[in-house]
Amino acid sequence: MKRIYLDYAATTPVHPEVVKAMLPYFTEKFGNPSSIYHYGQESKEALEKARRIVADLIGARDEEIVFTGGGTEADNFALEGIAFANQDKGNHIITSAIEHHAVSETCHFLEKHGFKVTFLPVDKDGLVDPDSVKKAITGKTILVSIMYANNEIGTIQPIEEIAKITREAGVYFHTDAVQTVGHLPVDVNKIGVDLLALSAHKLYGPKGVGALFVRRDTKMVSFIHGGAQERNRRASTENVAGIVGLAKACEIAAAEMDEEAKRLTELRNKLADGLQERIEEIHLNGHTTLRLPNNVNISVQYVEGESMCLSLDFEGICSSTGSACSSGSAEPSHVLLAIGLPANLAHGSLRFTMGKWTTPADIARVLEVLPPVVDKFRAMSPLIKKSR
Ligand code: PLP
Repeated sequence: MKRIYLDYAATTPVHPEVVKAMLPYFTEKFGNPSSIYHYGQESKEALEKARRIVADLIGARDEEIVFTGGGTEADNFALEGIAFANQDKGNHIITSAIEHHAVSETCHFLEKHGFKVTFLPVDKDGLVDPDSVKKAITGKTILVSIMYANNEIGTIQPIEEIAKITREAGVYFHTDAVQTVGHLPVDVNKIGVDLLALSAHKLYGPKGVGALFVRRDTKMVSFIHGGAQERNRRASTENVAGIVGLAKACEIAAAEMDEEAKRLTELRNKLADGLQERIEEIHLNGHTTLRLPNNVNISVQYVEGESMCLSLDFEGICSSTGSACSSGSAEPSHVLLAIGLPANLAHGSLRFTMGKWTTPADIARVLEVLPPVVDKFRAMSPLIKKSR
């Protein structure tokens, strides 16, 4: 069976060019970048070249890039690094109700260590109101952390506007741009953030490697303690092959992103429109235009997201759901609840995220397969019988 992968927001396949770039760093170019002999220096050179490429993609300086073990670590580092270094100034952090767990769980951890966290609500499209950020800032606020684009519903936040507010207030601003970098142009100086997290496996690089942009002169404590790697900010021997892979993925993204975003936007609209034409009583989650080019998230009345997801898998189509199934918890997605969906619609959500190898034929196949799947479940649904 030909499988159709439509879960690029979960992870992307590694680009063959990325694999090719990485391979020598497992074998003949294996040196530890901290060693002073040839092998070490060869790795060190690759590491610094990679740093330049990653920095270039987001308009940063080389020394403002800290390589990490993925997006989660970058987010943890940003929040804990700022919080513990700036306790003399205050203990208040502002974030949103729709952050990835990498941010929200770190906030809960910080709450246990004496920090106070404000979780700002979002509107029905998933947008944070910049004015609510302004109003939430107090004399004790040290950090605002608002994600760039949401991983579930794709909504893109008004990051530049929020950054103007944090700058005026003299508060650090972190953004989780894990779903954005490599898909949309990001320039840290244009948007005005102080910290920004990215992850290689969301842009056709390997898993377990990412980076945190830390603006020069930002006061932070180091996150992992040990050796002096990454200018004393992140100990541990660098994952040279992974970092080389991240850089190659960034290089490819820089060259292809604009065209790819246009192509994916067309596919996205075709899928979203096609589903809404073919299936009654469905709801498109997230903002209609301020959204990632590759994201379609729908809620289907009277049907469980998990059931649709499994039926699609049976037909060779990989999608995901914001309902309980993937996490094994009984709770529906916090993001869908935060945009005001009732629990039944939040449980009936299905996310399709497209990427480099998605074709118009793949979209046509989903449009052919999903409507009868929905019909089948609705015919059996006690919920639909009760409400009609
Ligand atoms: N932040 C967002 C918005 C994400 O979508 C993800 C991954 O799903 C992460 C952080 C975590 O990144 P990683 O898997 O590299 O730890």
